[in-house]
Amino acid sequence: MSLSLHNIIPVIHAKWLGVDETCLIDNVSIDSRSLQNNNGTLFFALKGHNHDGHQYIPDLIDSGVRHFVVSHIPEKMAHKANFLLVDNTLDALQHFAAFYRKQFDFPIIGITGSNGKTIVKEWLNFLLSPEYNVIRSPKSYNSQVGVPLSVIGINERHNFGIFEAGISLVGEMEKLEKIIQPTLGILTNIGSAHNEGFASEEEKITEKLKLFKNTEVVILQKNQKNEALLPPSVKTFTWSYSDTSADVLITEKGNSSLEILWKGEQFLVEIPFHDKASEENAITCLMVLLHFGYNQKTIQERIANLYPVEMRLQVKNGINNCTVIDDSYSSDYQSLKIALDFLEQHKTHKKKTVILSDIFQSGFPVEELYAKVSSLLLYNKIDTVIGIGEGIGAHLKDYPNFISFATTQDFLLQFNSSHFSNETILIKGARSFQFEEIVVVLEEKTHETVLEINLNAISHNLNFYKSKLKPTTKMMVMVKAFGYGSGSFEIAKLLAHHKVDYLGVAFADEGIALRNAGITMPIIVMNPENSAFAAMVAYNLEPEIYSVSVLKKFTVLAQQKNLSNYPIHLKLDTGMHRLGFEEKDLDELIGLLRNNNLISVKSIFSHFSASDDLQYKDFTLFQIRTFDSMSQKIMSELSISPIRHILNTSGIYNFSEYQFEMVRLGIGLYGVGNDPEEMTHLEHISTLKTIILQIKNIPVGDSVGYSRKFIADKPTRTAVIPIGYADGIPRSWGNEKGYVVVNQKKARIVGNICMDMLMIDVTDIDCREGDTVTVFGKSPRVTELAEVVGTIPYEILTSISHRVKRVFYKE
Ligand SMILES: *Cc1c(COP(=O)(O)O)cnc(C)c1O
Repeated sequence: MSLSLHNIIPVIHAKWLGVDETCLIDNVSIDSRSLQNNNGTLFFALKGHNHDGHQYIPDLIDSGVRHFVVSHIPEKMAHKANFLLVDNTLDALQHFAAFYRKQFDFPIIGITGSNGKTIVKEWLNFLLSPEYNVIRSPKSYNSQVGVPLSVIGINERHNFGIFEAGISLVGEMEKLEKIIQPTLGILTNIGSAHNEGFASEEEKITEKLKLFKNTEVVILQKNQKNEALLPPSVKTFTWSYSDTSADVLITEKGNSSLEILWKGEQFLVEIPFHDKASEENAITCLMVLLHFGYNQKTIQERIANLYPVEMRLQVKNGINNCTVIDDSYSSDYQSLKIALDFLEQHKTHKKKTVILSDIFQSGFPVEELYAKVSSLLLYNKIDTVIGIGEGIGAHLKDYPNFISFATTQDFLLQFNSSHFSNETILIKGARSFQFEEIVVVLEEKTHETVLEINLNAISHNLNFYKSKLKPTTKMMVMVKAFGYGSGSFEIAKLLAHHKVDYLGVAFADEGIALRNAGITMPIIVMNPENSAFAAMVAYNLEPEIYSVSVLKKFTVLAQQKNLSNYPIHLKLDTGMHRLGFEEKDLDELIGLLRNNNLISVKSIFSHFSASDDLQYKDFTLFQIRTFDSMSQKIMSELSISPIRHILNTSGIYNFSEYQFEMVRLGIGLYGVGNDPEEMTHLEHISTLKTIILQIKNIPVGDSVGYSRKFIADKPTRTAVIPIGYADGIPRSWGNEKGYVVVNQKKARIVGNICMDMLMIDVTDIDCREGDTVTVFGKSPRVTELAEVVGTIPYEILTSISHRVKRVFYKE
């Protein structure tokens, strides 16, 4: 891309407030964290409900970005950069993308539907790339922001495009259509996903079909109702299992073989999957190949080689204290950029290593491609690059610290675990390189049970609670107890990006671990122990002070260390009767703080005992009044105005008018509310998964597990899964009280839960050894599990053993 600002101004209807219109733009960004932001970047300051790109402009100017599309100019920035002023920065980004798209004239497929968009897109890319230079949406970039960013990735060398479009509201598809301008349409399976934004099923389908307004042909499963909603000028190319009026008739022949009947010709296609969804996605791809005139033999060969698609970037613990970012299934220039941004955001160590395979279908000639890759890696300050493949080996050899291997096997043969330690390693390779084998050797060995944490869902939940608050109210997030069991460091990094004001931990060592991992934001320690005061000061951690004796001890330390105005936080007991100053202590407290310059009261707070239970509403309001009067007394007698805070998660939800200057969010961030209505706004963040180790057939009368608690009353098929009470599964969840989910079906737990294993009934479930088992997540929800065993989700989440590996991912 190379466009001058001069050309862009009219396209996005901007008012020009800058110095030099002739500057050339070679990159577009919306992410302040991206290290590819440079002086050729045009930064669009997007505004969401709870996120405002304008906030990052001063920092971006400091780091060298010069051109901004804004809806207002941040204070004191007016003459420091080029500003293109518009009414709405998202509209501007979309107009820009639509304009950019028009510069190119080649076939572009637009895909929409409820399910399967990303898989169909990835498979088509695989199927068509031998003939074409394909540009496609990276990952699942299909939103109002993702689509323009995808289209902006087109360059002169591409000659085929595949973009997906996803919508959740009326009016959105029209905008995406203008950006993608597809010439061929694909409608994948229509399900019930995202129904909330639409009045009816029909309205949703009509909206989706707007993507095809100007396409020549649309490929879809034969369906009279859907076809009637298509714009009249559009031709269809349809398939069906039964309707003989479809263009292509499909007959299932068992064993994943399909018989295709088209234009009187019949042939068989093998697909390497067993499930219905994959089959339908494969048929959609086959339709595209037929449409473009591929012959039977090529279709058979290529479809037989389709593969499972993994679109997520995953963060895993590696050997020797490394962090591994697993993106081992794709390697193209666009997704390399995304992965490098992700690496920067989630790196746990200063040292960054990238293991990269040859890159295919970039659209650039190889020389130019690797020159670009090399400068991208340099921008991102990658210390070591391990290149695998002939192409990268030949073209990146001048990169400082470049190590080259011809094949993945060569790398594995020479692999020595001691060569990797205390570094963050991005593993990114084209599928044919089978980098999953590299992930296996670099990953920390633990058992098959993992707790997967969805970072997008955490952001979503944070934003839900922010939406309950005034924009000026500060936010502390509790990451105590290892982030409620979800992992503290990764979550803290995300919170830092969201500009949360404070983190809360229970003990000093939790705070120290966060500091060692590079977290610099303010951290308050809720249960400071006297023995840890010195360490807290050394690590810049701020203590909660809850009694006169603690205050005296901390003051002594402050004197010894020559501190001045060291921030402390006063905890008042307003009825919980846990830690905190009581009314009777206030005079002595005030006396000790008066004229004390060693320490400074940064905040005053209290904690609710029943904000989740509205039957105790009066008591909660009493706590609030008591808090207000006690804190007023301290503030007026000392003439100070610290931050005040009392609301926890349920407090934010039920008593948001009492937010004072800050709130303390805990469990809600982790996807658990204490109210059913509240729960409907939250996304579940953690999924506890394991696998089936062994399957058994139990004859009638035989028993399963310790103490013979389960006796088969009919022939029963059981599966053993490697998770037990030592992993944090309550033993009382066993004996048919609880269930897990296997291949979307509920499997009850039979017999007693053992220390490291449990057994489930899979008599009516199609499954085999190695299949994934969900212990909790979307279903069953952790709330359901807690209820059945008579506890609260807090206890379940924080009890998941540390031997269960945490894996973080972003969609
Ligand atoms: C844990 C904790 C919170 C968060 O409570 P949630 O119910 O999880 O929101 C808030 N304040 C204090 C002092 C806490 O210890």
